[in-house]
Amino acid sequence: MKGDKKPLWTCPKCGHQFVTRNMWHSCSNYPIEYHFIGRDPIVRRLFDEYVEFVERCGPVTVYAQKTRIIFQTRARFTGVVVRKTGLECHLWLKRRVESPRFHRIESLGSRDHVHYFRLTDPSQLDDELAGLLKEAYAVGSQDYQGREKTKQTKNGRVS
Ligand SMILES: [Zn+2]
Repeated sequence: MKGDKKPLWTCPKCGHQFVTRNMWHSCSNYPIEYHFIGRDPIVRRLFDEYVEFVERCGPVTVYAQKTRIIFQTRARFTGVVVRKTGLECHLWLKRRVESPRFHRIESLGSRDHVHYFRLTDPSQLDDELAGLLKEAYAVGSQDYQGREKTKQTKNGRVS
C-alpha cells in the first residue's frame, strides 16, 4: 500500500466507521427520525434538501447521534442540529472563511476550523455554500491539498 489510505475501523458495538482505531465516540444509534419528532415538516424538508445538496459532493454516510446528525466520508465533515425553525449546521474546514453566513467559527488549533451557520430556507443552499461543502468534503475524505496558491500570481499579485 504505497500512500494508500488506511481502511476505516468499524466499531464492533455500533457499526460506525472511523479513521482512527478505537476512536472515542458515544456508540449511539438513533434513527434520523428521532430528531424530527414534533418538528415542523418544513424543517424535515429542509434537511432532505441539505442531504441532497451535500450528496452533490459525492457519496456520504448520514447517521444520527443523540444531539445531532452527522455527515461522513472517511471522517465527519458536516453535521446538523435540528431546531424548531431550521437547522443549526456546522462544517469543518482547514482554513477560516470569513463570511456573513457564519455566526461562529471555532478553531481547534491552526488547522481545523468548525464553521457554524443556520439554515432556515432552501435559498441559502447557494454556490458559496456548495464550494465550501466541496472543500469540507475533501477534508473529510482526506483528499484536501490546501488552496491552490499558484493561482494568486495570475494578476501579477505576489503572495
Ligand atoms: Zn461504537
